[in-house]
Amino acid sequence: MEPLVDSYGRHIKSLRISVTDKCNFRCTYCMPAEGLPWLKKDQILSYEEIVRFTRVAVNMGIEQIRLTGGEPLVRRDLPDLVRQLGEIPGLRSLSLTTNGILLKQQAGALAAAGLTRINVSLDSLIPEKFAEMTRRDQLAAVLEGLAELERYPSIHPIKINAVAMRGFTEEEVLPFAELARQKAYSVRWIEFMPLDADQIWRKEDILSGAEIKAIIEEAYGPLQQIPLDHPAETARRYTFSDGIGEVGFINPVSEPFCSSCDRIRLTADGQLRTCLFATEETDIRSVLRSGVDDEALTQTIRQAVWHKELKHYIGDKSFKRANRSMSMIGG
Ligand code: SAM
Ligand code: SF4
Repeated sequence: MEPLVDSYGRHIKSLRISVTDKCNFRCTYCMPAEGLPWLKKDQILSYEEIVRFTRVAVNMGIEQIRLTGGEPLVRRDLPDLVRQLGEIPGLRSLSLTTNGILLKQQAGALAAAGLTRINVSLDSLIPEKFAEMTRRDQLAAVLEGLAELERYPSIHPIKINAVAMRGFTEEEVLPFAELARQKAYSVRWIEFMPLDADQIWRKEDILSGAEIKAIIEEAYGPLQQIPLDHPAETARRYTFSDGIGEVGFINPVSEPFCSSCDRIRLTADGQLRTCLFATEETDIRSVLRSGVDDEALTQTIRQAVWHKELKHYIGDKSFKRANRSMSMIGG
């Protein structure tokens, strides 16, 4: 089959699938305190529809799948979907992004279903600050979830992602760095992006990866860069001279990586997005439900990918906010 490629020559290999728009947190950089109008059940793709789409996409060259949301673990029987996706021939990596609050209960079932990689979002190690950011006083449950994960070594690496915000993150940098020195975690900071539903984002709120790296190096000395796993990798990763884990910086605003982007996204309601900041989508749900064959679905995906956006334009005069906020897209 011809490679899945866009009009700028980028090969698309990674698909993020949002399995729900709902969430049990209300992170200030993502969702409003009161939540959002949730999708109705029949608007959401069934597991059967997700698996069919994924099988076709993998046949076209998608190698990596990440399940996300909303909070993916609130969707019923997620391990069933993990197992079905894991059986698709040709898929090289299947991972999950979660806020971690339900991991204590679900880590075992996810491991048994074949999940091999995970990202746990965690912005603060201080209970009050965690509650301020997520609007839920649940740090202890997330830490218990992380501890539970360690019982399943087949899920590896364990990545911890923190959204970096000026005035909030600075005092947390060294405790998180210490966590990465003591444990086999990959702790990564991601720059705050204008994808929050409340539209509070301001450029001045970004704490850049370079600033965080400087804080760490001042305390621990020079970090050692790890070579990229593959050209489309978003994180710049480093080890300590004397630590077990690693730290990483995902800098979409200060150092955009659009030119090597290999990602597309399928929203919970079956819309294909070729950029986080897309203002238009392709209605895969209607195509799936219209009874067409896989060849027609393949052509729809190919056509959408061909029109993938050049870049995100954050900071340019022409920047337009995406037509959805992060929890509705699937980060
Ligand atoms: N609920 C799950 C979680 O939080 O891990 C998965 C969905 S969440 C939308 C995916 C990732 O997007 C999380 O790591 C979250 O921190 C990140 N995120 C959400 N809003 C963001 C924003 N405005 N800028 C940068 N990252 C954001
Ligand atoms: Fe929920 Fe994740 Fe958004 Fe936080 S970042 S509100 S956990 S979807």
